[in-house]
Amino acid sequence: MKTNKKRKLKKKRVLLIIIIIVLIISSLIYFFIPKNYGYKRRVIEVFKEENIYEKIQEKKKYSKTLEMAVLNNNFNEKYLDEYLEINYVENDSNFIDDINKLLSLGYKSKEINTFYETIPNSISVIINNNYNANITNYIGLNYFIEDNLERYINYENNEDKLNSVYNTDEIKENYTYEDTVTFVNAYLDKDYYSNDIKLSDEEAQNIDVIVNKYYKLSEDYEPYDLVTIDSSFATENQRLRKDAATKFEEMAMEAKDSGIKIYAGSTYRSYDYQKNLYERYVLQDGFIEAETYSARAGYSEHQLGLAVDVLNSKWEYLSENDNEYEWLINNSYKFGFILRYPRGKEYITGYMFEDWHFRYLGVELATKVKESGLTYDEYIARKM
Ligand SMILES: [Zn+2]
Repeated sequence: MKTNKKRKLKKKRVLLIIIIIVLIISSLIYFFIPKNYGYKRRVIEVFKEENIYEKIQEKKKYSKTLEMAVLNNNFNEKYLDEYLEINYVENDSNFIDDINKLLSLGYKSKEINTFYETIPNSISVIINNNYNANITNYIGLNYFIEDNLERYINYENNEDKLNSVYNTDEIKENYTYEDTVTFVNAYLDKDYYSNDIKLSDEEAQNIDVIVNKYYKLSEDYEPYDLVTIDSSFATENQRLRKDAATKFEEMAMEAKDSGIKIYAGSTYRSYDYQKNLYERYVLQDGFIEAETYSARAGYSEHQLGLAVDVLNSKWEYLSENDNEYEWLINNSYKFGFILRYPRGKEYITGYMFEDWHFRYLGVELATKVKESGLTYDEYIARKM
């Protein structure tokens, strides 16, 4: 009995030892015998020829991009780590060629993956320009427009443009990639009046329509609902569109309750009226000067019937030192009006700081624009 038990125990022990040995050997095989990780034999041979087989073993990873680069004979060892991370794109016969170009420009796998995932049709635009670290930042903005990509790149590269437009160091220092996208969307990379976007009369009737040195009204556009502002709050026969007029009167009344007197000094102007006005200013101050404060006919918000030049209690155009100005800056948005041409934003609006010119946008939109801290031109450029 006793010896039988011993024998059985010995048998078990031998079995256990065998199992352990098998386990050790198989794990040795697993860890030390080179593996192919799914690469084709031809590719493995190239790895060996190029003396990178060991490196591939370290990476422990299959990459179709790397495999295709090797098979296409278009493989640069320098970018080995990048190939491994670049997601392969099927059905693009230039893929390997293009990623090599992108890599040689200095792009990393993460950027390249983003390009192929988000703007696959613009790869050639990226390849035809120098490295630009901001492209992935542009893409991340919800107001990024793929068709504008080349213009974003050119705008950022154009130092002359930047220098001529940003006349203060402060603006240049605070310049961001968001500005690039915003300004190009707003056409600031193009000369004023160079790409007239003609607004249809239907578009012109929208309360949120933008009119500036790029967006033009037709000669015969006239708002259909102009009404005359109550003469207690305006000079003679001042007209705005109905909602704007009502809200201006409300605003002037509310101001009056706070001891502030404001009047509408100049409101709706027809195309012809604006034409004469602009030409008079050119004669008076010269073309360059007039351009900074007077709109050419068709380019004026006054033709919309949604802009008002405000007078103070002395019936002078409002100045930033007036109490009336301060009151308006703090309250006008509650009635749907915003200061349209602020100080320091001349390069965006195309006009000098006009402390008297307010634009009606409706309460909701005016509040949003005010909260954004942007000019209306920028606000629109981020919303379209
Ligand atoms: Zn004005």
